[in-house]
Amino acid sequence: MRLVLFHLLLFSSILGAANPVIIENVRVWAAPDSTRVVFDISEPIDHQLISLDSPYRTVIDLKNARISNELTQPGHDDKFLQGIRTATRNQTDLRVVLDLKKYVKHKSFQLKPNQYYGHRLVIDLLGGELEESVAIDTVEVTEKNRPRDVIIALDAGHGGEDPGAIGPKGTYEKEVVLNIAKELYGRINNERGMRAVMIREGDYYMPLRKRIEKAREHKADLFISIHADAFRDSRVHGSSVYVLSQRGASSEAARWLAETENASDLIGGVSLDIKDDVLASVLLDLSQTASLEASIDIADRVLKGLKNVGKVHKRTVQSAGFAVLKSPDIPSILIETAFISNPEEERKLKSKQHRVRLSNAIVTSLHGYFRDFAPEGTLLASRKHIITRGETLSTIAQQYRITTQSLREYNGLKGDLVRVGQTLSIPYNTSGT
Ligand SMILES: [Zn+2]
Repeated sequence: MRLVLFHLLLFSSILGAANPVIIENVRVWAAPDSTRVVFDISEPIDHQLISLDSPYRTVIDLKNARISNELTQPGHDDKFLQGIRTATRNQTDLRVVLDLKKYVKHKSFQLKPNQYYGHRLVIDLLGGELEESVAIDTVEVTEKNRPRDVIIALDAGHGGEDPGAIGPKGTYEKEVVLNIAKELYGRINNERGMRAVMIREGDYYMPLRKRIEKAREHKADLFISIHADAFRDSRVHGSSVYVLSQRGASSEAARWLAETENASDLIGGVSLDIKDDVLASVLLDLSQTASLEASIDIADRVLKGLKNVGKVHKRTVQSAGFAVLKSPDIPSILIETAFISNPEEERKLKSKQHRVRLSNAIVTSLHGYFRDFAPEGTLLASRKHIITRGETLSTIAQQYRITTQSLREYNGLKGDLVRVGQTLSIPYNTSGT
């Protein structure tokens, strides 16, 4: 009997002394269409979300919790979040109030510790109407019948909560790859007939699937994911270019790398929808063969270009099961620009000069590919005709067996007036006559 009593006392004393969950830190990541608030917590936490209006706010009630630090406040340019404040409730609980600039949808989930962080509670504030504005953007550039630009989606890997690999001097992969993407963006937009789209525009996380979706919304002709490699042996160096493998990874190392890059979604905090995965794999089987062939050709040219800039890690294009390359209809490549774990390459990745050389090599390779295989309807696919004396719009149209109407529209001409020396773009006659 005495023994039982002892046990009861011990048990109740554990209950009574239950330590509060400590909120150690708060991070805010602002993306164009969402804001992510991440709480570092000492252990998993009981929580509840409530939405209130006038003024709009999201209230998070945390059971048996307290905060150990001053709260980080959001930046002024945050689209959704005005401020964060806390108050104690019922002596033991904590209420966190997110003051909002407008109505948002919210969701929350908890993440287990990984190599960078401990337990986390994630609150996502999502804007509702923003997706339509992306669609309007796309419509505006595909003006009817005018030759369009070849569109290249630039995907800087990782971001926000997910730093990617970290160099010996503390350089973050997410930062260097964003800088390389920005350099490439400028270079591509200087090319006639080519236009770049940034998939991730700042320091925030984007799920891999959302990266693919954004590329598709912009009707990208090519998706380039930009990364920096890391390996435990700091002597390993050089760039590599990957395409998606259809049957597993081409080497053990490639498999390992694919696992770490794909783990990004777990670090950034996303659980993939099973139904989507099934759909994705069906689509993949249907239409991936053609885009994979294009991907291999492009990857091969880019790798050759990179050989002129510095050392390459593998002399041939590698393949691995990167989730971010799984667009069924968009040729996709992944460039590991260098090994951030190699001190010399870490230094290079941070240098503007190196970024320029890398970008030049990549753009030259892309240009070569799209000159040979310009997608139908693009400026690069059209022939040029310089008007000589005596020619009219209709004689030129006859010469190329197209209608005057299509020639006029293709060149954005209002009437039939043309002048000697003027250059016209000639569409390929797709009706086969
Ligand atoms: Zn990476």
